[in-house]
Parts: sequence; C-alpha cells; structure tokens
Amino acid sequence: MSDSPAQPSLFAAPEGQYVRVALDTPVRREFSYWAPSDQPIEPGARVRVPFGSRQRVGVVVGIDPHPPVGVDANRVRPITALLDAQPLLTPALLRLARTIADHNFCSWGNALAAMLPATLRRGRARRTITHVELVRESVPPAADLEVLAGRYPKQEKAIAYLERAGGPVELREFLNRSGLSRSPLDTLRKKGWVRFSQIEESGMPFADEVARDQPPQLTDQQRLCVDALCESIERREVEHFLLFGVTGSGKTEVYLHALERCLEQGRGGIVLVPEISLTPQTVARFRARCGEVAVLHSGLTDAERHDQWKAIRTGRVRVVVGARSALFAPVPDLGLIIVDEEHESSFKQESVPRYHARDVALERARLEGAVSILGSATPSLEIWHAAKERRSIRLLELPDRVAGGQLPQVQVVDLRSERPEKGHWLVMSAPLRTALEAALERDEKAILFLNRRGYAPAWHCCDCGAVAHCPSCDVPITYHKWRKRALCHICLNEQDQPKICQACSSVKVQLVGVGTERAEEAVMRQLPQARVVRMDRDTMLRRESYEEALDAFRAGTYNVLLGTQMVAKGLDFPDVTVVGVLNADTALHQPDFRASERCFDLVSQVSGRAGRSDRGGKVVVQTFLPDHPSIRHAAHHDFQSFARDELAERREFQYPPFSAAVRITCEAEQVSAVERLAQHAADALRAVRASQCAILGPAPPPVERVRGRVRRQLLIKASPAEAIAELHPVLHELCQKQGIVVDHW
Ligand code: ADP
Ligand code: ZN
Ligand code: ZN
Repeated sequence: MSDSPAQPSLFAAPEGQYVRVALDTPVRREFSYWAPSDQPIEPGARVRVPFGSRQRVGVVVGIDPHPPVGVDANRVRPITALLDAQPLLTPALLRLARTIADHNFCSWGNALAAMLPATLRRGRARRTITHVELVRESVPPAADLEVLAGRYPKQEKAIAYLERAGGPVELREFLNRSGLSRSPLDTLRKKGWVRFSQIEESGMPFADEVARDQPPQLTDQQRLCVDALCESIERREVEHFLLFGVTGSGKTEVYLHALERCLEQGRGGIVLVPEISLTPQTVARFRARCGEVAVLHSGLTDAERHDQWKAIRTGRVRVVVGARSALFAPVPDLGLIIVDEEHESSFKQESVPRYHARDVALERARLEGAVSILGSATPSLEIWHAAKERRSIRLLELPDRVAGGQLPQVQVVDLRSERPEKGHWLVMSAPLRTALEAALERDEKAILFLNRRGYAPAWHCCDCGAVAHCPSCDVPITYHKWRKRALCHICLNEQDQPKICQACSSVKVQLVGVGTERAEEAVMRQLPQARVVRMDRDTMLRRESYEEALDAFRAGTYNVLLGTQMVAKGLDFPDVTVVGVLNADTALHQPDFRASERCFDLVSQVSGRAGRSDRGGKVVVQTFLPDHPSIRHAAHHDFQSFARDELAERREFQYPPFSAAVRITCEAEQVSAVERLAQHAADALRAVRASQCAILGPAPPPVERVRGRVRRQLLIKASPAEAIAELHPVLHELCQKQGIVVDHW
C-alpha cells in the first residue's frame, strides 16, 4: 500500500487525530475514528460516525495522537461530523457514565445514551408530536362495535381506549399504555374512524415571571438541619446527609434553604423526586423560591427536553427539578443534589443501564465535590443502616409534623373476622364504613387505597381450583369490567372472559378478589353520599387526566378519591380526614426480599395523607395479617422498630445491606435453550471460586414465562458487598450476551 494519507479528501487537512468514541451498543469497548485537526474536539462532544453500513451518534471519550495499538492507520474510518463545538457532557458526567457502566453491567456507550435526551442521542430535534383521536361523527354504533370486537379485537380495543380518553392522545403514550401496535390505528384511519394530527410543540415550559415567596419562620428542628447542611455547603466538600422526617415535617422547606445557600454561592442544584410527586404544585414551590427552574420528567416531548438541557448546559438555569433522568442534567458547578423520597422503588431503572438513581446521585455528588441530601419518612434500609452506623452518611432528623398536626390514629382491622354483604366481596369493613360515613356527614373527604387495578384479579374454578392464566405469561388474568375483557397485566394482552375452566372444562368459574373497579362499585352501592373519583391506569388515560381529577377532588366535585399507587404518595389535602387501606397485604405477597419494606412504606405513606389539618385524621388498615411486623409498626408510625426487626432478618439471610445481591436473568423461547444458557452462566461464575460469594440457582423465577419466553434465574449474594468485584469480569462478559440480563437487586 502507498503511504499517502488514507483519509478521504472530505477533509482538507491531512493532519488529524484519533478519537475514541463510545457507542450505544452492548459491546463493552470504545471505537476509534480519525478526525481532522482543524476543528478542536474535546471529550464529551457528540460525533456522527459510520458504524458498519449505518451512521450512528456517539460520544467522544478520549483523544489520541496515534491510532490504537496494532491497528493499521489506513483502516481507521473518519468521523462523519462533529455535532457539538462545546462538549455537551462535562468530564464529571463522562466519568459518572463510566462508573454506572462498570457497576451496573453495561457498556459506557449504553450509560452515556441513557444520560442524553433522545433528540441529542439521535442528533436532531423534532418539533411536532403525533396525536391520535376518534372521529366522533363516523364511529359506528355500539352494536357494530361488538361485531368488530369479535372479528378485529385490536381495532375495537383501540376505539374503546380513545373513546374513554375523550380527546387527542399522544401516539407515543397510546402505544405505551394500550399494549397495541400502530397497525390497528392505521386500519381505523383508512376506515375514517380515527385521525392523526401533528400538534406543534409548546416550547419551553418555563414560567415568565415568578412571584417569590417569603419563607416561613423555621422551627427549631428545621433550623438545626439547615445549619448543618449550610455549613457543609459552605465548606464546598463532599458530604452525604439523610434527612429523616415524618410526612409533613417540613423536609421540603429544609431543601429550599439549602438550595438558596447553594445558589448564593453561584453554584447549581438538582432535586430528584419520584415521577408521581412531580406535580405543578411541587414545581411551583421551587420556582417561588429559587427563580427559574428547569423541569425534567418523562412526560416532556423530545424537543422540550432538548431545550431544557441547553438552558442548563449554558448555565442559564441553575436549578433542576425532575424525575430519575434529571440526575444527568449537565449543571455546571453543581453544589447540591437532593433525592426526595429516596426509598422509592421507582428510582431504580428497569432497563439498561439498570442503575439506582439514589446510588448514582451519591456518586455524582462525590465526583462533583457536592453535598447530597437524601430525604424520607421511611428511608431505605440500606441508607438507614449506613446512617446509623455512621458510615459515610450523616443523619438529620425532623421527628414532628410542622403545623402542630398530629400523625393520624391508625386502626388495624382483621379481615378474617369481617363478614361481607350477601352475594358480594368484602371491600369495606364495618369500622372503615363507619368512619367514612361520619366523615362524609361532616363534609370531609376520604382517600381509599388499593394496589390492584381492574375489577377482580382472578378467575377461579369452583370444581378443580384452577386459576385462568395468560396464554403467554405465567400470571393470572385480571377482569376489567368496563372492557368486559380479561387482561394480562404483564403483556397487556386481552382476551374474552373465560366461560369454562381451562383445566377441567367446568362451567363453575367465578371472579375472585377485589380490584379498584369492584371497590368503586361497592363504595357507591354502600355509601350513596359518596362521590367517588377513581384513579388508576384505566381512568387516567391522558396526561392531563391526573391533574384534572385532583383538581375536581380539591374543589369538592368528589369527596372520595379511590385508587392505586397514584393516590398513595405526596398528596396534601387538608380536608381529608379518613384514609382506608383496603388491602394492605397486596404488597406483602410480592416475591421479593423487600416486600416487607414496601408494605411498611406504603401503609405509612398512605396514612400520611390523613389528618393534615387541625381536624385530625383516622386511618383504617384492612389486612389478613394483622400481626405482620410491617403492619404493626406502620400502625404505630414506628419506623425505627420496623427497621430494627427487618435489619435483623436481612442480616440473618445475608440480604442487602449485609451483602450485594446480583440477579442474573436468562430468557429464551425454549426451555432447553434457557436451561443451557443459565447453566453456562452458573458454570462460568462458579469457576471463579469466589469464596465470599454465594451463587444460588439456576432456578425458575416466580414468574417463569413472560411474553411467551421462558426464564431462569441465578442469584449471587456477596458478603461483604465489595466481594462482588471478584465476579465482575465474568458478569461483564455475561451481560453482553443475548438473552442475559444482569442487575443489582
Ligand atoms: P414534607 O416535605 O416533610 O412533607 P413540607 O416541607 O411539605 O413537609 O411541609 C409541610 C407543610 O408545612 C407545608 O404546607 C409547608 O408549607 C409547611 N411548613 C413547612 N415548614 C414550615 C414552617 N417552618 N412554618 C410554617 N409552615 C411550614
Ligand atoms: Zn376446573
Ligand atoms: Zn401476558
């Protein structure tokens, strides 16, 4: 070969440099490209590069004067374009992505892609959003729809969804939630029954001018916390805090003071809250004190997110409030990271990279030289244990409610001794019913919580005891009455309600159990004075539905709010005096070592919705397990005793925080294939002979089949947690294989 420059004449300058680029592929390596030296390139900038026969967007993670060792310079392909003149990602964010990749078993490129808004990941921004809606005039009458349901159930399902939504729905949201593909919509469009529309982006959701609030006089307890935090912020050192305070104890007020101090120093801050708490009221509260605030959450359109990112990157906005992904906001000179409700399981991401936002927040604070505050009324046992042992986390406490409000009195009702009305399932026990009647009589409001949507969670055969299952998943199907159909809550597949038992063909099949739909029916039947608004995924079909329902409840159009998780957290209605937990056990039946912790958290959080004014409050918790520690301690608002008991159990069985637990889930179409895959993983892990790591399995997981694919699982418990490092090389190999998922549990 000649020694002429290998680079095509696309670039005038023959002089060049080699850039290492991380691409969003599972392969854990970087790729080298050549770039001309007439444009300065820095790590953190995005480039468009050829990859195979396609073009991809990647992030530059390193610059080398020479081609990689052992690679012929002629074979290094040039980048196609440099997309950022100024690096989009700071050095700290690049390092953070690397740490996430190493800790959570994915490639650097995967982690970087997760940080970037979709438009930046793809290299361009879209400016309109596709919506879909019914063409009311042309939709056929109900009788025809029934025929349609028999022949084209997907089309009928799409119509029913849109009908219920009652207006244009974002196409993306429709596809996510309905479990349908686009094709039935396309057919319906040809029939003239639905239409698509392009709606222009609303642009940046920033407020124009915000009225600044006067902060309230801090209580003595708040003052102590604020002083400790501000002192730490002023020292500009890394320090982690746990702010442990009951619901309504004024934690947010403490965050605001810390943020203000941080801003005074000219530094920025990030506030992470669970998606569900990210309401306009929450945002307004931060805006009223910190001025302009960027808001990042999953409901933003791509272009909105893009604009927010740019505003943050340039330092125009210094405070970011958002859900999980706000963690990666490119705030220059970050001084403070706050994670509110740090125990929330929604902070764990369930797709690659499978990181826990709270852990990444601590890591980012460390890399940026920032202070972090984790806040909760029911801290995760990992964080609580670390704070109690004074291991790297300082404990601050707010033991009392601010407004003099007392925590509500909690009555635990044993469902085993309650008798249902004849011909009905029990929904409200006598004590709950009495409390509700009294409250509604006094013109007060109530919240009822049931963590199960649909009408009834199972069909049961009275002859053989079999339960009807989804044909492609290993779970019972739920009856949804408004659809008159049975729905699988995993794959969202619908089918007709079973008329005979799948196992013995008996016709004596019966709906067992209670979901929110059935509960709503019962409340309306038993309490005529109740005006019920139901909040679950079947009623909240549009993004606006949630706010509309809450506004109507606040205004008094409704006096009973009944729903799933959506009603459990964060809501602050002073005239709610009764809270009912219809079945506290649903959380306990999950096959997860954190089930007790979740149950305690849920019962405590829901209870915290009651008695937020001087009218006081009453909570009724219905359960078949009144002696369970989660329920007993939650009824006494006693987190510390719960934590003590639960930690003793975790220690005995070597679960986190006393170990690192890593799960390896293998998946394939055939049993034989998945068993081979799992055995391969087990052999590779056991060959390391890591003496401090127990390797359990392979075994079928609690839900063995999902969407027609079979699963096997392995569990590693490493104690001490650092010992997991011994297995890292093997785990990093495994995570690149098709059909294997590795994640921290
Ligand atoms: P948490 O975040 O712990 O649930 P908040 O900070 O939301 O608690 O406070 C609960 C309520 O008490 C809010 O309405 C808030 O405005 C009010 N509040 C907080 N601190 C004070 C204070 N020092 N004086 C008066 N009211 C306060
Ligand atoms: Zn049967
Ligand atoms: Zn299914």
